[in-house]
Amino acid sequence: MPALDPATQQTLAARLRFYRDLGLTELYRRPVDPALLESLTSLGAPSIPVASSPEWVGDHEPRSNQQEPTIPPRKPISTPPAASAAVPPSDRAAALRIVQEEIGDCTRCALHAGRNQIVFGDGDPNARLMFVGEGPGADEDAQGLPFVGKAGQLLNNMIGAMGLKREEVYIANVVKCRPPSNRTPEPDEANTCSQFLFRQIDIIRPEVIVALGATAATYLLGQRQPLAGLRGRVHSWRGSKLIVTYHPAFLLRDPRQKKEAWADLQIAMRELGLTLPAKS
Ligand code: URA
Repeated sequence: MPALDPATQQTLAARLRFYRDLGLTELYRRPVDPALLESLTSLGAPSIPVASSPEWVGDHEPRSNQQEPTIPPRKPISTPPAASAAVPPSDRAAALRIVQEEIGDCTRCALHAGRNQIVFGDGDPNARLMFVGEGPGADEDAQGLPFVGKAGQLLNNMIGAMGLKREEVYIANVVKCRPPSNRTPEPDEANTCSQFLFRQIDIIRPEVIVALGATAATYLLGQRQPLAGLRGRVHSWRGSKLIVTYHPAFLLRDPRQKKEAWADLQIAMRELGLTLPAKS
């Protein structure tokens, strides 16, 4: 087979990242049925009601109703361990430092080889709201803080639209070291590292957790399911309410989904008793 030119390779890589964010991790080659293509493209827009959109949502046309195919479970995903005893609010910062010290200069999985820094987490140890992403990217690896790149800027805007400041929430990832070329963490990497995420969650005890994207949802809930089946409702998880939405990096690639993400964030706001923006 002839080698692909660099531009085509980049386009394909971007498309694969896009599919990954949708939760599509297995692809099959088969001829496209023109009738099926026609029926898919003529489907109507999704009908989740949303309040007036903040600025970060913009006025992108929502994408036609794309159903994400069921992803068959392939590799094992470990069940999260039971929640540990409550830590009093005054001790939470110290308890988080202990977890960070325990992680130390971690070599528990292969990701350590490519990292510059471990990205532990950031924010208020007594936060009522916690966001969980997938893993650090290049900017996070350079700065040692989660969500500080382009996706982080969007996340900051999303937090602001909820009427909150970034310092008022807590942000962490499933894996704490940057995966090479920003690939999805392998199950053994995510399972090894997520024990520390669960410890962070058990210490902070947020009322609401927002899982950003398929990887966060998969390893928090302990089951691999398409994002479409998990969004738009409140899951009960380890004493917290868990809401699943799109990853900000995915929203940067497909801004038409921002309205859907805003609808998810409004569910989180409702659960936190935060006031929804007035309808325009
Ligand atoms: N993407 C993530 O999932 N986490 C980060 O910290 C940054 C980008």
